[in-house]
Amino acid sequence: MKCFNHHESDSVGQCKHCYKGLCKECAADTGVGIACKGLHEQDVEFLHSLIENNKNAYSNTPQSLLMSNLFVLLMGGLFVGYSLYFSGSSFLMWFGFLCIGYWASMTVYNFMLLKKIKTDY
Ligand SMILES: [Zn+2]
Ligand SMILES: [Zn+2]
Repeated sequence: MKCFNHHESDSVGQCKHCYKGLCKECAADTGVGIACKGLHEQDVEFLHSLIENNKNAYSNTPQSLLMSNLFVLLMGGLFVGYSLYFSGSSFLMWFGFLCIGYWASMTVYNFMLLKKIKTDY
């Protein structure tokens, strides 16, 4: 592949933004990829930071959700257990079942989310 600007020079890489071939003179190494010097350097860096942010969001979310869901399950079990053993309050029992139901649906949702991520990466 030849440089987009200098047809006599071999390219050392492609700009990550516009995919043009670039020679040593035209290429700027942004640290995260090669970019057209003085033209797409910031675009490439911005694109990279976007991708990194997405990765972080995906890898953090399911685990923190699972933790908060465990808390909901614990609360639900506590409410149901308390109403069964002590008060016999049907309100507390239903509230407990509601918590457990919420936990079950969120767990299924998270499971599907995790599965989706594994196929994506
Ligand atoms: Zn470019
Ligand atoms: Zn060039």
